Amino acid sequence: MSHTAIVTGGTRGIGRAIVDRLLAEGARVVTCGRGQRPADLSSAAAWVTADLADPAAAGRLFAAAHEEFGRVSLLVNNAGVQVERTVSESTDADWEAVVGVNCRAVFALCRLALEDMSSDGGTIINIGSISGVVSDPGMALYNASKAFVHALTRSIAVDHGPAVRCNAVSPGWVDTGMADEAFAQAKDPGHARRDALARHPAGRFGRPDDVAGLVAWLASPEAAFVTGQCFTVDGGLTAASPLNPHLF
Ligand code: NDP
Repeated sequence: MSHTAIVTGGTRGIGRAIVDRLLAEGARVVTCGRGQRPADLSSAAAWVTADLADPAAAGRLFAAAHEEFGRVSLLVNNAGVQVERTVSESTDADWEAVVGVNCRAVFALCRLALEDMSSDGGTIINIGSISGVVSDPGMALYNASKAFVHALTRSIAVDHGPAVRCNAVSPGWVDTGMADEAFAQAKDPGHARRDALARHPAGRFGRPDDVAGLVAWLASPEAAFVTGQCFTVDGGLTAASPLNPHLF
């Protein structure tokens, strides 16, 4: 893979799996997070400390990528935050936090990527969520922010093809810190986990590598005719009806 890639949120979880997978396939990768460079991040990846809630961060990330590797041909918008609140409970600060990272930063990074990609081409992959299609209870801003990501993905594909392909990947439950935080909101987190697991035809929760594999394929020439789509990676969770005979 000959890409120069920016992957946001490579500290851990899904983002780290994407960084590792792209490096393994030969890409040059710049990643970021709010803290210092993680000790266990591959030395092959370039690191930028950046808080994407800061509107200036997107520009700094691209400037660092240009300095390190040159023109960016692959952007993976992975970094995301969730706040577990309904609309009535959500504060203006919650709006800033969720919309700032999940929407404004994604938009700003896509706009910068399009500058790099408009003449020589490139690919944008946004990490959405099944929560952008079916609503997780008590996660109003997060759900809405992911619907934004899906719609933005289609707009970019429609407006900026053929130079740029843009797709989204919508994970279901992937075993990361973010999933743990969501289950922790349940009255009985253990029961909520068992219930969710029983609803997966694949018989397990997702792993970060499940998402990374699809991202790598979407970034590859094999996906040259694939754009404007939102790919669900949820072990069959949202394919099932609410009736679950395995539970009772
Ligand atoms: P984690 O919480 O495990 O990791 C989030 C990553 O984003 C970290 O690297 C974190 O780095 C980075 N990040 C968060 N906020 C910022 C910020 N303000 N500036 C820069 N980086 C930031 O999440 P997951 O790996 O689980 O999720 C990754 C993506 O997948 C997200 O977009 C999420 O919405 C989506 N997703 C996850 C699902 C799941 O079940 N896990 C399901 C559906 C979608 P740091 O903390 O170092 O700043």
